[in-house]
Amino acid sequence: MLRTLALLLALTLTLSACDDGDINLFSIQDDIALGAQLRDEVLANPQEYPILPRSQYPQAYNYLEDIRDDILASGQVRYADEFPWEVYLIDDPGTLNAFAAPGGYIFVYTGLIRFLDEKDDFVGVMGHEMAHADRRHSTDQLTKAYGISILLEVLLGNQANTQIADILASLVSLQFSRQDETEADTYSVIYLCGTEYAANGAASFFQKLTDQMGSTPVPEFLSTHPNPDNRVENINTQADERGCDTTFDSSESEWEAFQRSLP
Ligand SMILES: [Zn+2]
Repeated sequence: MLRTLALLLALTLTLSACDDGDINLFSIQDDIALGAQLRDEVLANPQEYPILPRSQYPQAYNYLEDIRDDILASGQVRYADEFPWEVYLIDDPGTLNAFAAPGGYIFVYTGLIRFLDEKDDFVGVMGHEMAHADRRHSTDQLTKAYGISILLEVLLGNQANTQIADILASLVSLQFSRQDETEADTYSVIYLCGTEYAANGAASFFQKLTDQMGSTPVPEFLSTHPNPDNRVENINTQADERGCDTTFDSSESEWEAFQRSLP
């Protein structure tokens, strides 16, 4: 708790309007510090987040990191050089989810990888998650949720510890807005358009997810990533309008080998 407190009190105060019009009180360094804090909490809780050890699954991690690097090399990721872009696999074949902490810490459940039929689908989801971090949706939402006056007091050190704990706790279960979802979808296309992959890979993932929405339980992905209207259509339109390649021509055998390499 003390470390958390020190971290939050050390947050530098910035008041800036993003180019999407959102006010974000946090600095880029705050995003990285909050993300690192969240990563440490995840790593310290193997019961809830059983991370696959890199030492035992080096090839799986290399495969993920190659995809991440291809996206970063698109030239479209604003904080490609500033954020650490760490990726982690969570060993939970029954959970269909992925999440991004601020500052570019990406967590992918093995259940999501099992669910997807092709590498291009997965690359689309990676682009979407990386966009949430790169577009700073978490700290936008924190600014909105707590209000500028409360956050100013916290950042200036005038607030009670309980409030600070609340803020960190809310980061874990933060729900993005539908507007954030649409923006993450759009940026997934923008990033992937500059790569060898299909630019609309996220669309087929969301289509498959939507097809299963009638069933229970609702996939965990939708609890933190609300489904905006016309999502699949928006992704496909964005790809068309930008003249992006939408051919799924990644190696199927390579994707299946990746799936089989996981527990
Ligand atoms: Zn999302």
